[in-house]
Amino acid sequence: MKILIAEDDPDSRRLVKMRLEAAGYDVVEAEDGQMAWELFECEPFQLVITDWMMPRLDGPELIRSIRSSGQKSYTYIIMLTAIDDKPNVVIGLESGADEYLTKPFDKMELIARVASGERIIKLQEQLTRANRKMEILAMQDGLTDLLNRRAIEDYAEAELGLAKRKGQPLSIIILDIDHFKTFNDQYGHKGGDHLLRQLAKILTENLRQYDRVGRWGGDEFLLVLPGTPILKAITVAERLRIKTFEAKLSLENGKQISMQISLGVACVSDHYPSLIKFVDAADQALYQAKQSGRNRVCCYDQQIE
Ligand code: GH3
Ligand code: MG
Repeated sequence: MKILIAEDDPDSRRLVKMRLEAAGYDVVEAEDGQMAWELFECEPFQLVITDWMMPRLDGPELIRSIRSSGQKSYTYIIMLTAIDDKPNVVIGLESGADEYLTKPFDKMELIARVASGERIIKLQEQLTRANRKMEILAMQDGLTDLLNRRAIEDYAEAELGLAKRKGQPLSIIILDIDHFKTFNDQYGHKGGDHLLRQLAKILTENLRQYDRVGRWGGDEFLLVLPGTPILKAITVAERLRIKTFEAKLSLENGKQISMQISLGVACVSDHYPSLIKFVDAADQALYQAKQSGRNRVCCYDQQIE
């Protein structure tokens, strides 16, 4: 682990460095708080040991800068204070230090405090990883691993806001499998699940970089296509229809089947309605596709009020 030392007294700095290096740590030295802050801005350190009194930027100022920098991972900060500095320890801890060491410091104590900081950093990292995993799980559809309804809805809402601010087009596609109930009836619910997962894969593989797809519910999926005008969106929808139709989906018994989908497209470009109305327009186009024979793309061609 790399440790940043901010200490203006060269002898004291050298001593801390020597002890830490002997314990196997990498050390970066800063001659005062300002230099430490500049180094930190280039590369956030996980552990910082800082003196209290330093020219240009003192210890508490450095600590406050680190704490308000908004860096993602936690920095464990140990403040070095003179033995009769005790009243200032409170100020140091209040500015955001985690620990303090009194000078002249004991070699064993320095290493023990750094090791305890290291343990806290590791725990913090585990917590961050676990939180990230939970965040991903909370956004994922359990069956297909696509974004779930809430996540794709949030994405669509954010893109609608962005399109409105920038005056750019935004298209959405609602897609529904044709006669999916008959697949379930023929191959069982488990067989149906297997098909849903394969369709999700086809959709993901055929998306462009900024497009997103989520499971809207049952056998319905919502696609969000930022910056996409209506004609382009129809082309994308048609491509997905053909790719799905041409794909040989496999059943668990090894048999291969094909599947058809119907798609409803809606686009906004100069008038921006609410997301509910936008989705409702795509839904109406999907209904039209179902009504006019399925296995096709229909488009909502009126102004969405
Ligand atoms: P249509 O062409 O009109 O869409 O006919 P459909 O049979 O596909 O009818 P609809 O879309 O209304 O019904 C979807 C069916 O999808 C109903 C339900 O049995 C099935 N379904 C919904 N969720 C799941 C799921 O998670 N797994 C499986 N296997 N089936 C599901
Ligand atoms: Mg269906």
